[in-house]
Amino acid sequence: MTEVFPNYYNKFKCIADKCAHSCCIGWEIDIDESAMSKYRSLKTVFGDKIRKNIEGDVPHFALQKDERCPFLNEKGLCDIIIECGEGYLCDICAEHPRFRNFYSFFAETGLGLCCEEAARIILFEEERFSIALPENIELSEDEKDFFIKRNDIFSLLQNREKSIAERFLELAVKFGFEFKFSLEDICNEYLSLERLDDKWTEVLDKLKTFSFDGRIFEENEFQIPFEQLAVYFTFRHLSDALWDDSYGERVKFALKSCYLIGAIWSQYKCEHGDIEPATMVDFARMYSAEAEYSEDNLDELIYG
Ligand code: SF4
Repeated sequence: MTEVFPNYYNKFKCIADKCAHSCCIGWEIDIDESAMSKYRSLKTVFGDKIRKNIEGDVPHFALQKDERCPFLNEKGLCDIIIECGEGYLCDICAEHPRFRNFYSFFAETGLGLCCEEAARIILFEEERFSIALPENIELSEDEKDFFIKRNDIFSLLQNREKSIAERFLELAVKFGFEFKFSLEDICNEYLSLERLDDKWTEVLDKLKTFSFDGRIFEENEFQIPFEQLAVYFTFRHLSDALWDDSYGERVKFALKSCYLIGAIWSQYKCEHGDIEPATMVDFARMYSAEAEYSEDNLDELIYG
């Protein structure tokens, strides 16, 4: 299938042992049938080791006590790649942090914000996000309508003549809601969902009583990160509106996500006098892991 990619896509390369929040820790990785058959036919000592470390009816790597993948070595590198090469990775490991939006005759492949290196690239890319449709591709009438609507949203979010605060207000009005939320309600909503990391619970508990003035949406240094974040959430989640017309709900989710991340960054700034890019990345990464990687959480946040 033809694939297209955002302009920043080729900047991504996994930073492996330099990654502070490796995706090889804390996630149960299901193994696809094609990788399983490679592992079954690997008649070596390492092949035995792989097979011994797979469990479950839906086969997955048995996480160790500290939730590490059994093949993540002490140097932070993957032993399967070292011993057998990248061709022996299962689909999930080989694909992460990529996601795909599928259309009739092509797919868009993006980078997910839950990977810290992808988050760094997304937040601080100065060039406006862009992704081209493949040439000579036939679109259905619904798809044509979808891409017109999405381009309108991107144009509004990428209008650098206005502050990001103005752009968010304008987009909210266009979809019939206000860019104004109760921080306590949002925190309680996220606290009612399944959570992966205790640190996320601490962040939300502390944030509930924060008096958030929204000034961060006017500050120069945050204009690009918020633009890129809002475009990222739209790019990643709007395509399902093709099936159920949930454009308003999905735009609201994108803006609510920016609002919550903005509040977290603001609170950190108030407490520490400033916020480093690496800390901004870390909160965005944490948000993504908690909100975007559970279908139940995502459904609740978009439709709930
Ligand atoms: S989270 Fe991203 S940078 Fe870190 S190990 Fe995984 S793919 Fe590599």
